[in-house]
Amino acid sequence: MSDKYQSFTQSAIGKVLVKNLGLPNPTKLERYTAGAPLVKGTVLVGGRGRLAESLSGLLGELDIASTSSATADAKFKGLVFDATGITTSSDLVELQEFFTPVLRSLETNPRVLVIGTPPEQLKGAERVAQRALEGFTRSLGKEIGKGGTVQLVYVAEGFEGSLLSTLGFFLSPKSAYVSGQVVRVGTKKADTVAEQVDPKRPLTGKVALVTGAARGIGEEIAKVLQRDGATVVGLDIPPAEDDLKKVTSDYITADITAEDAPAKIASYLKEKFGGVDIVVHNAGVTLDKKLANQKADRFGKVLDINITAPERITTELLKQKLVRDNGRIIGVSSIAGIAGNLGQTSYGASKAAVIGFVDSLAEDLRHGITVNAVAPGFIITQMTAAVPFATREVGQRLNAMSQGGLPVDVAETIAWYASPASTGVNGNVVRVCGQMMLGA
Ligand code: NAD
Repeated sequence: MSDKYQSFTQSAIGKVLVKNLGLPNPTKLERYTAGAPLVKGTVLVGGRGRLAESLSGLLGELDIASTSSATADAKFKGLVFDATGITTSSDLVELQEFFTPVLRSLETNPRVLVIGTPPEQLKGAERVAQRALEGFTRSLGKEIGKGGTVQLVYVAEGFEGSLLSTLGFFLSPKSAYVSGQVVRVGTKKADTVAEQVDPKRPLTGKVALVTGAARGIGEEIAKVLQRDGATVVGLDIPPAEDDLKKVTSDYITADITAEDAPAKIASYLKEKFGGVDIVVHNAGVTLDKKLANQKADRFGKVLDINITAPERITTELLKQKLVRDNGRIIGVSSIAGIAGNLGQTSYGASKAAVIGFVDSLAEDLRHGITVNAVAPGFIITQMTAAVPFATREVGQRLNAMSQGGLPVDVAETIAWYASPASTGVNGNVVRVCGQMMLGA
């Protein structure tokens, strides 16, 4: 399931046609390989604000080389701008003063991060100025090119030291297909749990349940969580057992919508592991039809699988206190749940409901347990291989990177949420969509 158009643009004739006809020219995206340094190059740090003390220390902990001075011939792999010191709209010119001189000195697949203060925690001119950062970063994401990404991280006061896993994710190739996102750290946390984390294998000793793990995105989530040290319990429907056991030897076969599925999952996790640390609700289906032609059973089935089952399973695991302290609950939404999509009223509703699930739970969870979701855009899997050719082509190109994402891009985002160092990351929905134009 490769991107044939992208391969064509790399050929001799393809290069000529792309140039002369002004066709999209997707840059090959670097992906993370296990054991490699997070950043192959230097990160330039700028701005003035609350992060002045902590930023270089955090980057050092991640073995990321950084500097605060840009010499004329220097090349940068990443830029981090501490915008927490911007308190009025006229201060925003500091963004231009920092970025313009260095944007032509970036290597391929560069990473840009702007760090601000959550506007909802501020008043007056400072609130106005901090809100502006969103428009700035989303626009820069659309013009940076070279397979680059740009994000805005709003960090609540007092949580400056909680950025370790977030910096590691957004500065590395792990976030290859995530761009134009706004993330909040420390805004919805009633308590925190400190844990020693090995940045190379952050999930050592953790148990993760992944539903829909037999293939596609779920299979890749299982692999990435295993790479990071977790023991993965895979779950899928009984006909998928042969594929499922190739992914992991710890597995459950069940239809998640079955009446007894939550109890079956809970008893497996309790008996075998005494609990669970990470729950990834990945299993999902589409049964597309325009609403005028829709049948109740198909509409209901999509809702049952994509949202009601994750709700019931989560409720059961929490009720039985099986989700351990500093646990992670992770949903898989979709861009269709944000922007809507033709023929997808049921799917769009179910995936918007995943966002509602995050919003409602994030306020209530305690003991360092967090809930977040990913919202993938066009990811190349068997699900999207079934999409008609023309729609698929448009779907793949309609984003700032002019290409579809890979299951690993979704999996890496989930691994960032799953890290024990991500306790401050709660209540977020991050799109893995190459900054798709839909619903942006
Ligand atoms: P996929 O169809 O390749 O895999 C889904 C897996 O879920 C399958 O192994 C399937 O057997 C399992 N599953 C389905 N119903 C189940 C049930 N009732 N009980 C247990 N297991 C069940 O799909 P994918 O592309 O890997 O998608 C994974 C998730 O990502 C889904 O939630 C999907 O909605 C979401 N998503 C995918 C894309 C994309 O572009 N592929 C985009 C946005 C969101």
